[in-house]
Amino acid sequence: MARHIYVHIPFCEAKCPYCSFFSRRSSPDIENEYLHACMKEAAFYKERIGNGLLPDNNLKLDPTDRTDTVYFGGGTPSVPDAFLTAELLERVIDAFGIGKEDMEATIEANPHSLTLSKAKTYRNAGFNRISIGIQSLDKDVLKTLGRLHDPKAAEDAIRIARDSGFRNISADLITGVPAQTVEGLIKDAGRLLDLGVSHISLYALSVEEGTPFYSRYGDAIDDIVDPSLERKMYHDVRAYLKTRGFCPYEISNCSPKGRESIHNSIYWKGLEYAAIGAGAHGFLDSVRFCHDDDIESYIQDPLSVTVEETLDEKAKQKEYMMLMLRTSEGVADKAFAERFGREPGEVFGDGIGSLLERGLIEKDGGRIRLTSPKGLDLANEVFREFV
Ligand code: SF4
Repeated sequence: MARHIYVHIPFCEAKCPYCSFFSRRSSPDIENEYLHACMKEAAFYKERIGNGLLPDNNLKLDPTDRTDTVYFGGGTPSVPDAFLTAELLERVIDAFGIGKEDMEATIEANPHSLTLSKAKTYRNAGFNRISIGIQSLDKDVLKTLGRLHDPKAAEDAIRIARDSGFRNISADLITGVPAQTVEGLIKDAGRLLDLGVSHISLYALSVEEGTPFYSRYGDAIDDIVDPSLERKMYHDVRAYLKTRGFCPYEISNCSPKGRESIHNSIYWKGLEYAAIGAGAHGFLDSVRFCHDDDIESYIQDPLSVTVEETLDEKAKQKEYMMLMLRTSEGVADKAFAERFGREPGEVFGDGIGSLLERGLIEKDGGRIRLTSPKGLDLANEVFREFV
């Protein structure tokens, strides 16, 4: 019976000018109080599980779901005290009765705040996967992004992760930054692989309202970075990664076989997961719930959650289509029918027909997938069919 837990650590050393995630600068005192509040929430889950109140439908939904996962995301989980972070992982493992030997436990980190001593503390506590916000190895691109680290610190962070015993290391790269080039991005990807990363996540720069980047670029970002250039970066770097054995297994993720993120795959498969921390979203017993984006209120009352929606069968089918179409695996008729009792064509016949006609998806061997490059580039149009 696999369990999956997301823990949100909403602290960053500084706010990057393009970031719209829930995170902010803080002080060690607040961070410590916050981590203790997370421990309180973990203890609450322990009580519920002890009383048989936490259902686990995942095995029924996906018989291959056998690995427990814990994911500390942010924000920047490498900012607060590492010993307290390690203690929180131990409390979570204990609360959920997780098999420490075969779990996947990921911590996100940033080059600027990751030290060898912190990385060793995480590793000793049981984290066995680290995801580092590298973004670029080009000093000008990092400067445009307002990141605190330079290329040397980025490379050092990967060495630190390796030297402290991490073998499962993921790095984020960002595409579509003003003045970034396709060649530069491919060079960065190659260097990261040479340094020993085992997973790459690729994200396009997105200029969101309310961020300093929005005030700077607004809607003019498309004039500054031609969208077709961003698409070229994306496709060329994916093609390059493939030549190095890193296969794209989801719209934004590439890795060698066996190094895919197990935790992230639970979201795409529509499986259930618990959520700890301010701003964290969870999905249990068909209910989507969240904690408010408010650190102080969370510290006061870590058990308060808001129910966002209860998913009925139709909503689950739609979500499954939308999320599994993100993956290279796509939607298999058989898997869908095992889960929902009917094949996707019986439920979404018109939508699937129209997407096939427009060349956005393809059908092959009882499975539908996004086409490349058209379906990948217009993925949001595909997903809209299932909203
Ligand atoms: S480090 Fe990440 S989460 Fe923090 S402000 Fe920058 S982009 Fe946002």
